[in-house]
Order: sequence, then C-alpha cells, then structure tokens
Amino acid sequence: MQRRKFIKSAALTSAGLAVTNSLLSCEDTSKKENNTTPISTTQKASLPLVIATWYVENATAKAMEILQSGGTALDAVEQGCMVEEADIKNSSVGKGGLPDRDGNVTLDACIMDKDGNCGSVVFLKDITHAVSVARKVMEDTPHVMLAGEGAKQFALSNGFEAEDLLTESSKKAWEVWKVESEYKPIINIENHDTIGMLAIDKNGDISGACTTSGLAYKMQGRVGDSPIIGSGLFIDNEIGGCVATGLGEEVVKTVGSFLVVELMRQGKSPQQACEEAISRIVSKPNSNYKDFQVGYIAVNKKGETGSYSIHQWFSMTKFQDGKNEQIQSDYFLKNNS
Ligand code: ASP
Repeated sequence: MQRRKFIKSAALTSAGLAVTNSLLSCEDTSKKENNTTPISTTQKASLPLVIATWYVENATAKAMEILQSGGTALDAVEQGCMVEEADIKNSSVGKGGLPDRDGNVTLDACIMDKDGNCGSVVFLKDITHAVSVARKVMEDTPHVMLAGEGAKQFALSNGFEAEDLLTESSKKAWEVWKVESEYKPIINIENHDTIGMLAIDKNGDISGACTTSGLAYKMQGRVGDSPIIGSGLFIDNEIGGCVATGLGEEVVKTVGSFLVVELMRQGKSPQQACEEAISRIVSKPNSNYKDFQVGYIAVNKKGETGSYSIHQWFSMTKFQDGKNEQIQSDYFLKNNS
C-alpha cells in the first residue's frame, strides 16, 4: 500500500525527486534573485585542455596525462570519466552510485567524438565502466544507444566484467532513505555529481563524455539527460562542446547541450551560451527552478570555456597550462544578503 502510494506520487515534479546529492541545492531561495552581469571564465586558449563538471581533479589529471602523451581527446575523456566510475566514494557515478528506489544501481553514459560519432548506454546494470561500454557501442555497432539487458550482454560479450555496484555505504544510505521514502529535494551539496568531461587535444579536436548513476532513488527504469546525445552532451568539432549536470528532466526538455553548442555557433561565448541555456529553463512559465539544480560547462573551438548553473556551488574543474583547478561557477540565483 505504502509502495503503491509511493510510486503514484513519483510523478516527475522537482519536489518529488531526490536528486543525486548535490543537485538539489541548496541556498535559501527565498532570498532575492539578482541576475547581474555574468562573470566570464573565458581564457585565452592553450591546448590541450580538459574541463569537467564538479571538482574531479583526479579525473582531469588522468585526462591531461593522456592528452600530454599525445592521446586523443576521445581517449582522454573516456579515461578521465573512468576514474570517477571506479571511485566508490563517488555516490553518483559508476560503482558505489546510489540506487533506484528498488535498490538497483543503473548507469547511464555517453560519449561523442570529433567526427560526430556517438555511443550511449542507458539503464546499464552491473558494469562499472559505462562510458567504455558507450564507446564500444559507438565504435563496434551500427547503433548509437543500447539499453538495459541488451547493453549488459553487449558489455559482457566484449570482455567487461559483471560486478555488484551497490556498495555497503550506498546500501546503507538507501536503507535509511527507505524509512521515509520521501521525494523531497536533498538539501546537500557535495563536490561532484554526474561527471561530464570535455577535452581538446593537441590537434585542436574536441570530444566529450558523460557518466552517471542518475537521480538517487529514481523510479526503476528512469533515464535522465546524461546518455541522451544533445541533452546531456553535444560536440560539434567546428564549434565546441557542452555537457550538463543536474535535474535531467529539465535538461532534456530544453535539449540543453545541443542548445549551448548552437548558441556558440551563433557567436555567443561559452559563458554566454551556458547562461542562455539556463535562462531557457528558469524563464519557462511556472518553472519551479528554485527547487532543482542544472549546471552546464562548455568549451569552444578556440579553447574558451564557460560554466553556469541555477544555484550556487556548482563548479568546474579545468586543467590547462599545467594548472588543475576548481572554478566556482557563476549562477542564476544570487543570495544578496
Ligand atoms: N543529470 C543526471 C540525471 O538527471 C543527474 C546528475 O547530474 O547527477 O540523471
């Protein structure tokens, strides 16, 4: 009975979703909003470079190591994302990711290269390196997306090993959550979430990848933006790339990453494009954007970067010119007190 009520009440309202750790921030949103002139994170290009959502310095370091040794942007983003997938302390990606409401850890990931090729996996169980399976889909199948059991079988037949992705600590967190089973925004901020990564290699070619366990305690079968090409990630090697994090439903509704790349094509800087994409979300009639987080990072062909989010505390890790640093993102909801 309780479970039935639970499922019924699981319509995708923002108030009804427990977004993975950091997403539903955060601030006292009753405070006044202030959309002042954006702070640009634009910099003069020096290649190679890598940027990633949240603070993931080990992941960007790995990606930079690949780039410095002459590897492609595609290799860099895959291997960078794999660092977070393997980290069981990261409860929103790969092994150790928080499960759905029924205790299943299901992963979504995608990857896109300089030629516009892409691959993705959705609702993948028992395989840690979802991003690598996505790359295999891109390179070794005539398809773009594989889901569920098909994706898992494909992974197994390509040498990936099955393992239980539900760690003790994620299981404990789920058990605590089950007591109330309430879909309320988690007022909590961690320093990482979905890992989205964009890289430009020494040849100036761009690739991107994105990997996540999605929303914590989501409905079984739910898929977010992260494996959807154009929503969670988009690359156009002539223009630039973008990757998203946050409440995937809102990103999908505005085809966020594609939008950012198209805005850059029209002449906007990565920073301006990210801001415009957030503005499309928050300016919708009846948008309850104060209850959820969305963040974008973007890079253009010149190597200029930008990031923007709805709430405070979204950040981007950037590795360029020997510096691997966390950059706090500018954001839409300003606390003026
Ligand atoms: N965008 C992801 C999703 O909706 C969540 C996240 O960024 O962690 O599945």
